[in-house]
Amino acid sequence: MRYEPDLLLVNGNVITMDPAHPRATAVAVSGGRIAAVYDGRPETAETEAADVIDLKGATLIPGFHDAHNHMIGFGLTLTEVDLRVTSLDELYARIAERAETTPEGEWVVGSGYDQTKTGAHPHRDVLDRIAPGRRVWLKHTSGHMCVVNTPVLKDLGIDTEPEHVDGGRIATDADGRPTGLLEERAQELVGQLTQPFPLAALTDAVASAAGRYLGEGITSVTEAGVGGGWVGHSPVELAAYQAARDQGRLHVRVELMVAAEVLHTLGAHPGDGMELGLDLGIRTGFGDDWLRLGPMKIFTDGSLVGRTAAMSAPYAGQPDNSGYLQADAAELTARIVAAHRAGWRVAAHAIGDRAIDVALDAFAMAAEKYPRPDPRHRIEHFAASRPDQVLILPERQVMAVPQGRFATELGDGMMAAVGPERTPWLYRQRSLLDAGLVLPGSSDRPVADGAPLLGIHDMVNRRTASGAPFNAGEAVTAGEALRAYTYGSAYASKQEHVKGSIEPGKLADLTVLSEDPTAVSPDRIAGLEVVATIVDGEVRHALLPR
Ligand SMILES: [Zn+2]
Repeated sequence: MRYEPDLLLVNGNVITMDPAHPRATAVAVSGGRIAAVYDGRPETAETEAADVIDLKGATLIPGFHDAHNHMIGFGLTLTEVDLRVTSLDELYARIAERAETTPEGEWVVGSGYDQTKTGAHPHRDVLDRIAPGRRVWLKHTSGHMCVVNTPVLKDLGIDTEPEHVDGGRIATDADGRPTGLLEERAQELVGQLTQPFPLAALTDAVASAAGRYLGEGITSVTEAGVGGGWVGHSPVELAAYQAARDQGRLHVRVELMVAAEVLHTLGAHPGDGMELGLDLGIRTGFGDDWLRLGPMKIFTDGSLVGRTAAMSAPYAGQPDNSGYLQADAAELTARIVAAHRAGWRVAAHAIGDRAIDVALDAFAMAAEKYPRPDPRHRIEHFAASRPDQVLILPERQVMAVPQGRFATELGDGMMAAVGPERTPWLYRQRSLLDAGLVLPGSSDRPVADGAPLLGIHDMVNRRTASGAPFNAGEAVTAGEALRAYTYGSAYASKQEHVKGSIEPGKLADLTVLSEDPTAVSPDRIAGLEVVATIVDGEVRHALLPR
């Protein structure tokens, strides 16, 4: 029988991530799947493909997969004021400019500021002056805090004095007057005013994020929390992804983590073990290759640069501050164990080593009480981890999901927060690989720039914005970083049997790079170009017209 693939990519430097066949030169695609991988020239009959692309020596890799990003959050930032600036003056100037074109009473929303770069958090009084009559909401780059102005504080009834917030804080000045800064779960207060977002806006955010992703070679993302808590935007958030897909605007494959707050008590038979979950018993794994439910996402603590993450010893220079957990340890544990029991995978955000202990203990309890094969639970960030915690991961079958790009964007602030003795604990990669773990690639976008080539660059180079080495002993090779952003992230989604490598039968999600990241000098990785992005066998981004 004559075999004619839909698409044939020839004359490439193909990096497959298949250990049995690591390099190849050509790939055939049929019906959205990889049909064949060739060394040398394909047979003449097979070259009669509907579409042939001559890669002219360019590098073909499995499509990039960001294992932890906030897709709608990022999509929304594309319309917000960009606050990635290095001084408060510039931040205020940008807000003032946007306020001029914003009607009174409406919102001015900005994102991406970092007080370790601007010198201080913005203050409500200045915001009131430069944006009179507008509601101002400025999101910290970590996502773990925000600043609002007086009209917003008034709406919330906290303009003159704060109220207690479990797992969060309303910051005040020396006189006890709120400054506008809301930490961690205190951010949910703003959510009372802004949420739920309309589905149409969320659908547009998904689509605009997807457009950016294609240009960066991303073919899959894992969205780190929808539907509730302070990371969610609407209780019907999943519908935005489904709408984008119906409209042909999803473009990349999405795994959705569900915010822990969304799981509720179910009236199932006690023998089912499904006390906690979503209606109908829908759980991790439901969906298809385009849109699928991932783990339950639970926050155990906050952030390092904000110095809210739960550490076992105080922050550098702050003897009274060791951060805090987002809820009581027993409560967090009970929720993790119940979700595990009901069949969910669990992704626990844990930054400080004390929070990591809580997550590891909860996973141990879950496995002991309700054993199941390969649960593949995850610890998101695993940011400041003690050596003993690294060694426990493989034994407990738990993955760590660190973010490479944090080196440049947050590295200086994180090192200052933990001090030199604990700097070797920060954002490990090498010691995870050495412990036998699979390393995924992720950005936590919009916390950091999510372009995978930037992430890979930082995973290899490990430098902060100021040029200082960032725990350089944890650097990995370009080949290991590339594997993380493809196979590693597929593994973190428990989808390595369908994607993450170029092998016959797998999804035809492919990215073409101008050069081979493993062959150029490490300082050039960030400058490589994404020449084309192919999802489901279809070219959805191409730098040059074909
Ligand atoms: Zn995140």
